[in-house]
Amino acid sequence: MKINFLGGVREVGGSCISVETDDAKVALDYGIKVGEKNSNGFPTEFDVVIISHAHLDHSGNLLSLSHGNPVIVGSQITRDVTADLLRDMIRIQHMNGNHFPYTNRDADNIRNSWWVRDSVALPGMSITLHSAGHVAGAKMTGIQAEGKQILYTGDFCLHDTEILKGSTPENLPKNPDALIVESTYGGTTRPHRSRLIDQLFTHILDAIERKGNILIPAFAFHRTQEMAKRIDQAMERGVLPNYNVYTISRLAHQITGHFNSHKQFFTQEIQQQKHPFNYRHVKHLRRTSQIKEPAIVICTSGFGHAGASLHLLNQWAADEDNAVIINSGYLPPESPLEIAKEKGELVENGNIIPVHAEVEQIELSGHADQEELIELVSKLEPDRTFLVHGEMEQAQLLSKKISGMTDVYIPEKNETITL
Ligand SMILES: [Zn+2]
Repeated sequence: MKINFLGGVREVGGSCISVETDDAKVALDYGIKVGEKNSNGFPTEFDVVIISHAHLDHSGNLLSLSHGNPVIVGSQITRDVTADLLRDMIRIQHMNGNHFPYTNRDADNIRNSWWVRDSVALPGMSITLHSAGHVAGAKMTGIQAEGKQILYTGDFCLHDTEILKGSTPENLPKNPDALIVESTYGGTTRPHRSRLIDQLFTHILDAIERKGNILIPAFAFHRTQEMAKRIDQAMERGVLPNYNVYTISRLAHQITGHFNSHKQFFTQEIQQQKHPFNYRHVKHLRRTSQIKEPAIVICTSGFGHAGASLHLLNQWAADEDNAVIINSGYLPPESPLEIAKEKGELVENGNIIPVHAEVEQIELSGHADQEELIELVSKLEPDRTFLVHGEMEQAQLLSKKISGMTDVYIPEKNETITL
């Protein structure tokens, strides 16, 4: 059996791994490097393309398969959200006047080529998907062929969140011959999640006391719904006082609809609610002009470089009563949020505006941190472990920690390993 690391190695972005026997050939993820115009072409001749979850760095290259009758496998939420994100990508590319050779029909082709299932049998190969945590619908992939077992984690976490259960190592195949594991935060240990949530609520409460506006930039998929639900529940339970709370993102609103229709992907508590993502205290708005201040606003883009979040950042940053809460661990260098955080200023139409609003970064990540990564490896006891989806430094820091438990390797792009 051959494993070819086609993309998303020694970096984050453009994930794709091919697994091949004499009788079957499978792709694990088919992503783009978000923000790069020309993502590299991957081979197209696969029996099955398995998509771990609906982030474009794992799924965004699927449009390049839209004319070739692909068989795509993944969960229902991954299918529905991927189709929405592909359509949104097409819209943005065309709006920006870029040459982008796809239309909504290609996104529809991808959606129609999707097999929603948790297991697939190919000649001499059986494939099983397991819950991965991370975001709604995310799956790990187990492959059994030629007497060997491979487990590919995709992006995952072991910790539970308000809306999603983490992955349970007890339900994953033990002693795989090869574990292919993400290493995004291979060198990072985070404070316990409950402490981060306490910090978040403290900052929100302080800004509410000042009657300030609170901007929370968030991604349309999962992070918006998770934050909205967290604040909604906190208000319902009296942890936060009543305040105007809004989400502003057409795409997020559409994705929220999928969340309500696929409750089975979420925690027991969420499943017991009739429409868990129809919030009591959080309203969806179409535009920023509808905001009644003071307010908490959860909006796209998550990096604050476009859309409502950029507009509100420019509008609110100069007032010291306001707060900006960043949840993403990563901010693109030179992005307005990064400059606001690091230099305390914003540049609008060539003018420098000093930032007096409080800017806080509280990282509520959906990725495993170093402790969780070590826990996974120690529980699964893989023969060999391949670290992917992480900058070299993060992968090396993790490698040091687990090298006593397993044979660790950090593959290069386009490197092929024979098992
Ligand atoms: Zn992801």
